[in-house]
Amino acid sequence: MDNTSRIELSRSALANNFDYIRKHLQPGARLSHVVKGNAYGHGIDPFVPLAVELGADHFSVFDAHEAAAVLKALDRSVDVLIMGMISEEQLEWVIDNRVSFFVFDHNRLEQAVKVARKLKRKARVHIELETGMNRTGFAPENWTKTIAYLRQNADALDFQGLCTHFAGAESIANHLRVKDQIKRFRKGRAYFKKEGLPATQVHAACSAAVLRFPKTHFDLVRVGILQYGFWPNMETFIHTQTKDGSDHDPLERVISWKSQVMNVKQVKKGEYVGYGTSYLATQDMTVAAVPVGYSHGFSRSLSNSGRALIRGLRVGVIGVVNMNVMMLDVSHLANIETGDEVILIGTQDDQEISVSSFSEYSDQMNYELLTRLPLDIPRIVTE
Ligand SMILES: *Cc1c(COP(=O)(O)O)cnc(C)c1O
Repeated sequence: MDNTSRIELSRSALANNFDYIRKHLQPGARLSHVVKGNAYGHGIDPFVPLAVELGADHFSVFDAHEAAAVLKALDRSVDVLIMGMISEEQLEWVIDNRVSFFVFDHNRLEQAVKVARKLKRKARVHIELETGMNRTGFAPENWTKTIAYLRQNADALDFQGLCTHFAGAESIANHLRVKDQIKRFRKGRAYFKKEGLPATQVHAACSAAVLRFPKTHFDLVRVGILQYGFWPNMETFIHTQTKDGSDHDPLERVISWKSQVMNVKQVKKGEYVGYGTSYLATQDMTVAAVPVGYSHGFSRSLSNSGRALIRGLRVGVIGVVNMNVMMLDVSHLANIETGDEVILIGTQDDQEISVSSFSEYSDQMNYELLTRLPLDIPRIVTE
């Protein structure tokens, strides 16, 4: 049965974004498509096969559970890289299914060797270096030990990659910190090479670094937010547009989120709308109820401030967003009826509600708003 809203993914928008990203890659850099957080809320199930259809062959995820979802969504094999969590129990599945993974502590290397020997299948490891993010990664003082261990256990460990992650490449405020990280990463790469262990896949860049630091593309880039048609932040958008001498947004939003009018009613001047007294009707008005609320990922912080589209026009959320319902002021629209389409994210006629305008209202970044879209809203692919 249909849910109270649905999410559509646009094939042509995705194709456009892939082209845009590929055009910005340095020669020799492979594109890994980051699909953690249920493909940034788009849904791994519909997104991954669509991406493969459009030429994707490498995916990065946060954990083993997501890696399994990627493989399950496809009927052919692709490269999958886990950048974060694998429990000890999941390690066997990961190695058995030839999934590559970040390693950031010695213990994990020892476990990987044990499991790999048991399965008689090499573990595909990417050694993460600490360069300044201070989240995960081997600190420089451990590199010698790590290199020795990789060498001694080469029968069980396939040393595929050397990687790091930047602490905020989207913002000029972090410029010096990121520059420093790049320097330290290069040093690490040179050290591994000097010790006789050159990595075949060196990688560091996320979306913002792809656009702002082309020298960080190395052999592979890990791109998330851009492929979905969103900018990491406004600053990266302006920086890139200036550099490219472009005056229009070259990305297209892949996602649309749609629902419908559940009820229409007239409200008299002087009445309150919804729970409490946060919205007072200062004139006679028409109010539409839409069956989407904070339990569906429409943030409560959009109370009295969110926007939606009906019949090609912008309307505002009035009153408090409820668990399953929100109210819209449709006084300026003629003949609104139950069943009329409501756009929560996306376009209608020539109007657009983008997640970014939306998330500025609600103080949430693109990333957060997208990934809070519940798993059980049906997702469908459109042209
Ligand atoms: C999320 C993530 C990325 C992708 O970041 P975007 O800004 O969405 O491109 C890349 N690398 C790592 C380690 C990540 O966690």
